[in-house]
Amino acid sequence: MTKDKKIIVSGMRPTGVLHLGNYHGALKNWIELQNTHECFFCVVDYHALTTAYDKTEDLQANIRDMLKSWLAAGLDPKKCSIYIQSHLPQTAEVNLLLGMITPLGWLLRNPSYKEQLEEIFRKKYKGQLSKSASEKVGMLSEKELSELSSFGFLGYPVLMASDILIHGADLVPVGQDQLVHLELTRDIAKKFNSTFSKDVLKEPNSLLTKTPKLLGLDGRKMSKSYNNTINLGEDLEVAKKKIMGMFTDPKKVKKDDKGHPKDCAVYSLHKVYNKDCNARGEECKAGSIGCVQCKKDLFELMQPELKEFNERKKSITDAMVDKILKDGLVKATKSADAVLEKIKKTMHLK
Ligand code: SF4
Repeated sequence: MTKDKKIIVSGMRPTGVLHLGNYHGALKNWIELQNTHECFFCVVDYHALTTAYDKTEDLQANIRDMLKSWLAAGLDPKKCSIYIQSHLPQTAEVNLLLGMITPLGWLLRNPSYKEQLEEIFRKKYKGQLSKSASEKVGMLSEKELSELSSFGFLGYPVLMASDILIHGADLVPVGQDQLVHLELTRDIAKKFNSTFSKDVLKEPNSLLTKTPKLLGLDGRKMSKSYNNTINLGEDLEVAKKKIMGMFTDPKKVKKDDKGHPKDCAVYSLHKVYNKDCNARGEECKAGSIGCVQCKKDLFELMQPELKEFNERKKSITDAMVDKILKDGLVKATKSADAVLEKIKKTMHLK
């Protein structure tokens, strides 16, 4: 491990094919960071189970596809360590040990859990939403409680903390909306260190990443759950069809109507792919360009990058992925063993 480089840990859940939102929002950033930091990038397959434990048939295919996408996009195993979370059993052990010191209240207040609880509670006790999470849990019947997700879902922030703390991460790339999760990781590290009066776990800082606001085909945020994505590795003809059918400014009906690029999903992609996007924005506002031409131009701009990605992905074999995972796991194991050893000694398990 290079001593003077700061350590970065980040992961993605293998829940399906990656899309352009994932690419521009996270992956491109990772590709930059691998040049300047000691990076661990992890396919967090345990995390996929926290919400979809009963739908695992495609998990292995999703993991493989994700890894090939990472590599095709430009992650370089010579510059970073790539591994699968469940292949590093130390993660599960650290998760168990940190679970011992994490107060239940912290997890009950976690926004994802709270949202789910509110939803069930709202159905039954409208108007009593001001109660605390544990009070709400106490007021629900066994049947209603069973609608809440599992112990694994409640505890996923501890698992996330384990992924990060196990490598002594200095920095974690996050968007504004994930800051609260990282704060919990810092709190867990702090609690561990103060409980045992030892500086064992490093409190990671956030590396706030500016991500372009990429809109999906229907004008909402690009997301798998909205089924409005252009996928990484998409067949070019399919990508073109999707772009030509994209949502634009609803007020621009005729070709020479004045448009509002800020309300247009196509323009959100121009901002990423078109270095003259400001000029295009002005043309749109002046009504000197029609949406059909604007979409065609966008596809032409996107095509070379999409094509190159597709070719690179096709050239990555399973054997190449296996070798990369093997090497990545060796590096991840070395780093994780050192932290786990310290945790166990501190807790007098050794
Ligand atoms: S001209 Fe382009 S930017 Fe303007 S509304 Fe149409 S597609 Fe969007």
